[in-house]
Amino acid sequence: MFNRRKFIKASALSTALLAIDKKSMANVVPSAVAPTNKPIVISTWDFGVAANAAAWKVLSANGKALDAVEQGVWVPEADESNQSVGYGGLPDRDGKVTLDACIMDEAGNCGAVLALEYIVHPISVARKVMEKTPHVMLAGDGALQFALEQGFKKENLLTPASEKAWKEWLKQAKYEPVMNIENKLYDKASPQKLPGNQYNHDTIGMIALDAKGNLSGACTTSGMAYKLHGRVGDSPIIGAGLYIDNEIGGATSTGVGEEVVRNVGSFLVVELMRQGYSPEDACKEAVMRIIKKKPETAKNIQVGFLAMNKKGEYGAYAIQKGFTYAVCDAKKQDLVIKGKSYY
Ligand code: ASP
Repeated sequence: MFNRRKFIKASALSTALLAIDKKSMANVVPSAVAPTNKPIVISTWDFGVAANAAAWKVLSANGKALDAVEQGVWVPEADESNQSVGYGGLPDRDGKVTLDACIMDEAGNCGAVLALEYIVHPISVARKVMEKTPHVMLAGDGALQFALEQGFKKENLLTPASEKAWKEWLKQAKYEPVMNIENKLYDKASPQKLPGNQYNHDTIGMIALDAKGNLSGACTTSGMAYKLHGRVGDSPIIGAGLYIDNEIGGATSTGVGEEVVRNVGSFLVVELMRQGYSPEDACKEAVMRIIKKKPETAKNIQVGFLAMNKKGEYGAYAIQKGFTYAVCDAKKQDLVIKGKSYY
């Protein structure tokens, strides 16, 4: 039978407990939570420095993280000397430049284009997919058709330097992802001097936290050089190449995309941060997952993860040495950090 007196007693007690709880929280929370470092933007590889600078213009003017990441990655997408992203990217085996990109905002909205040809800024087409369609991904000819309908210009993306590299590659036609080429050999002044397979692959993955404390991310690449026509990597796959959860943080990846897809890498990193891992430890755990499943493969490939949490703390981890990332915040505009690695 319902006992009114007991009920009143119990609810009085819980109200009292709630009051104590609120009071103690009021004492504890402000001093226990470290101040958030915002705005801040991070991105993969040395070429992230120039991309971060463009993103910073948006962030430092109190702009949105979403605009910052889109405008940030425009820089390598348009940079013809960067042969692993956008215009000037190395082609597939058939000599076609096919681009993969995705974008994700603080509300969990996302858009992606897969194997898109002829458009210099695939990231902006991905954003249009997110904002103007009920879909998340558009691929190949359909993605191109949509881009043209949205007013994007059709352009030849195969530069003379990349065409030359491809023709050189065709002589042996051996598909061999090369590790960390960007650091040792990235020679912006004269990329054409380098042999055919030396800018084999890379991606710009970028995560920004804006002044309002909102996170967004972007990821864009021409993928693995000399891949099969139609091959899609991790970069445009939400959860693999990029993932953002505005409550927790964001993660992005670079390297051999097949291994990242197999492990849903970026989602894994964010979920590990949810469990309390630091960004670097979360990236490390995701790398270890890849190594554990395929130790022999992992010896000869590169995969790197980069992550930031809601407090603006960041970290990275890669299978191989040589992975770098760029950081830009109010303290430092052009910081390049060597990511830790398993080997
Ligand atoms: N993850 C890219 C892909 O597999 C390439 C890279 O970042 O190196 O297409």
